[in-house]
Amino acid sequence: MPILEVRDLHVHYYTLRGVVRAVEGVSFTLERGEVLGIAGESGSGKSTVAYSLLRLVPPPGKIVKGSIVIDGIDIMKLSEAELRSKVRWQKISMVFQGAANVLVPVYTVGYQIAEPLIIHKGLSKKEALERAKELLKMVGLPPSFVNRYPHELSGGQKQRVVIAMALALHPNVVIADEPTTALDVVVQAQILNLLKRLKKELGMSMILISHDLSVIAELADKVAIMYAGHIVEYGPAERVYTNPQHPYTRALLAAIPRLRGPKSKLRYIPGSPPDLRNPPPGCRFEPRCSEAPSELREKCRRELPPLIEVEKGHYVRCWLHAAR
Ligand code: ATP
Ligand code: MG
Repeated sequence: MPILEVRDLHVHYYTLRGVVRAVEGVSFTLERGEVLGIAGESGSGKSTVAYSLLRLVPPPGKIVKGSIVIDGIDIMKLSEAELRSKVRWQKISMVFQGAANVLVPVYTVGYQIAEPLIIHKGLSKKEALERAKELLKMVGLPPSFVNRYPHELSGGQKQRVVIAMALALHPNVVIADEPTTALDVVVQAQILNLLKRLKKELGMSMILISHDLSVIAELADKVAIMYAGHIVEYGPAERVYTNPQHPYTRALLAAIPRLRGPKSKLRYIPGSPPDLRNPPPGCRFEPRCSEAPSELREKCRRELPPLIEVEKGHYVRCWLHAAR
């Protein structure tokens, strides 16, 4: 049984200016010990998917449809109290996008790691602080950091602290939302190495979210590529990277700058994503697609392509494939 199974997730934001259809028809599974990477440009719905998995979509957002089963528990059926006492931080936890900046300035790092252990596990303050020291060691920080305040830490050190917080209750699944985005490249590499080590040592099941495909390549076993609220391609990382099938994935991969080899012009994808309050009924990437032949365009615009399995476990949502 997979540790996490998401089926047909739809999440909408009910704003004064209309309904933002941020996530629609998203399905994926995460096996135990596996890392799933979710990639896609800004606004594609990555964080909204992540929030949904904890049932913490911020208002005016709402999960309107779908099932989310974590370790055999359908969390869509649980009450808020059950989510708090059984699921969040214990079954699934999250390193929030920009979390390092929201550490509470007036509490020590140790206390902030210890607090969930006191609340959820009933540890005494002293026991919880001892455990906080172990967690700090696990993320590569000296145990003496328990007594430090957030402003006494560098950005990379703060990021390690929020990772330690996410690990505190031994969750089955950890979500890391853009864990390296605000960091310089050297510290970015250190954090990725830390996540790699945790995957290996703890057999951690993880969802790694990034707009940067080269970050995801470092860690992911499986990749989901999101565009304007849909998963457009999904499959084993190695296959998606070496044999990308969706025009959007191909464009994203082509836009990664290369350090070695002949210098080429920096490529980008012309155009911008659709307004999610009024998305086109068909393929949301069609206006920017450079691959669909003219005779297919009408169909692309009108009908949403299904997810098609192009090789074992490798799916793509594109009429170029369905038409064959
Ligand atoms: P980024 O890479 O910038 O973090 P993302 O892929 O995480 O982007 P989301 O934050 O999930 O994207 O946003 C998905 C869509 O939902 C966007 O169109 C965004 O404008 C919209 N959205 C997100 N939060 C809200 C909100 N509170 N109210 C209204 N719309 C929202
Ligand atoms: Mg985000």
